[in-house]
Amino acid sequence: MAGFAAARECDVRLVLLGPPGVGKGTQGRKLTQDNGWALISTGEILREAAARKTPLGLEAQRRMDAGLLVSDDVMIGLVKDRIAEPDAARGFVLDGFPRTVPQAEALDQMLAARGLRLDAAVSLTAVEAELVRRLGARRECPTCKRAFNLESSPPRDGRHCDDHATVELIRRADDEEETIRKRLEVYREQTAPVIGHYRGTGRLLEVNGIGPVDQVYGALRSALGETERDRENAGAR
Ligand code: AMP
Repeated sequence: MAGFAAARECDVRLVLLGPPGVGKGTQGRKLTQDNGWALISTGEILREAAARKTPLGLEAQRRMDAGLLVSDDVMIGLVKDRIAEPDAARGFVLDGFPRTVPQAEALDQMLAARGLRLDAAVSLTAVEAELVRRLGARRECPTCKRAFNLESSPPRDGRHCDDHATVELIRRADDEEETIRKRLEVYREQTAPVIGHYRGTGRLLEVNGIGPVDQVYGALRSALGETERDRENAGAR
């Protein structure tokens, strides 16, 4: 993955696709920390707006609690502003966007308007039973948003964030069983077609999301490395 790594002054733009609980946030966090890119998590932006009780946040909270998507118009406007911020100029990874085909089309347009394009869309895959299990055991640090899993990656003392020793981990409201089922249904109906959108452009990479975090990360890095080599080879021809 040398081509993608910090060794080069690169401004890589990726989207992470996949059902809730597949590990987009965890892998996106590792990838951006290792490479100095911005991590843009639309779910995180909405949860922060909800915590601040802004009008957008309150509306988003209602939709999130019901396991439903926030409207395309709102999400597209939000991402358009966010990718224009200075930190995104060094490259970014989108986690949780696009979630519908109109969002994917809008992203293509907003990048093209800036003379940019996506380098790759990474689809993390997992079977549904595994997702339900993972989401049920998922916990989050309310301070730094670091994700833990009580089964596969528990915090050192079983209760508090490894990086904030006094902060107790919480379960996201939308990780309750009934909401999990609804989110998976919404994923199947509205988000899975986004994978077809990127398959058509030849920029789709599929990575198995099942397994230990570092193993999935290794597979993700090598898939991205191969893409980068292909691009360099094409450039050399
Ligand atoms: P996440 O943290 O990515 O699982 O997102 C949590 C919730 O935020 C989702 O279940 C949706 O309600 C909402 N959300 C996040 N990103 C989007 C998006 N791109 N489009 C619509 N709703 C979104």
